[in-house]
Amino acid sequence: MTLRIENHKLVGDQVSHRDTPNRGGAMSPSYLVLHYTAGRSLESSVESLCTRKPQGNASAHIVLGRDGRIVQLAPFNIVTWHAGVSQWAGLVGLNSHSIGVEMDNAGLLKRIGSQYQAWFGKAYPEDEVLLAAHRNGGPVSPWHTYSEVQIERAIELADLLVEHYGLKDVLGHEDIAPGRKSDPGPAFPLAALKSRVLGREDDSPPRYVVTASSLNIRKGPDTSFEPVAAALRKGTEVFLLEARDRWSLVEIVSNAEVEGWVSNSFIAAVAASRAAPASPLAAAGAGEPASSRSTRSAAEAPAEKKARQAKKHRRAKDA
Ligand SMILES: [Zn+2]
Repeated sequence: MTLRIENHKLVGDQVSHRDTPNRGGAMSPSYLVLHYTAGRSLESSVESLCTRKPQGNASAHIVLGRDGRIVQLAPFNIVTWHAGVSQWAGLVGLNSHSIGVEMDNAGLLKRIGSQYQAWFGKAYPEDEVLLAAHRNGGPVSPWHTYSEVQIERAIELADLLVEHYGLKDVLGHEDIAPGRKSDPGPAFPLAALKSRVLGREDDSPPRYVVTASSLNIRKGPDTSFEPVAAALRKGTEVFLLEARDRWSLVEIVSNAEVEGWVSNSFIAAVAASRAAPASPLAAAGAGEPASSRSTRSAAEAPAEKKARQAKKHRRAKDA
């Protein structure tokens, strides 16, 4: 199911085209914006996005079905109307700067009795519902889940678009119109897609998580060394910088300033993401350093991250 772009149009298996009348002028896209349709089906959403409406016209470049089918409604170098009132990184009105992908998904559901219902009345089974709070705020709510093939296809498509157009970032509608919009919502793995597509974590060290309720992080690989910071709480994520047989040098994911040694007995590998498969600690625990990072100081860590960002940025510009 390899996709490619020819003359701003998508070509590949299970790709079809239909021209929407809801379109603007020419543009050169800098961003990809992901949405859910909050609709009943791929067909109903395509129909709606290709219809002129007195209450306001909407469209997008792509509608992505739950079975992986893709319908393109306009070439990628033509403005479509998916973002509405929006802003990002100094830009206002993202329609003129972005490619819009709508994913068939009922969106935010409502619990009615024992059922989860969409705004259009259709009920969804529990195994198609995620209970979660939106990262922009609000209570824990039921959200329609995306299908696996749909997520795979979204990643493949985002990868192609970022590469082909040298896009700067992949955003959710919820990022560019917070408060007003909450799509694609908590059920879509946007962070994972971004790290995969933008290569942000390609060269990150493996991630581990603290399993003890409280874990000392020390200046050296032994209990005789002073702690370098307050004890880490259970669930704290760390990058594994160097693994020895009983102790590992780690850096706190949420605070690169903190780096120190923790006992291997109380950390566990975070489930390997596709972007950065975590190497099992056992393999690194044979007494060999996991990498050449052992000699650097804590102060070098942020610089290294900046270099990574810069590299990613160059790549985007070259594309
Ligand atoms: Zn949207």
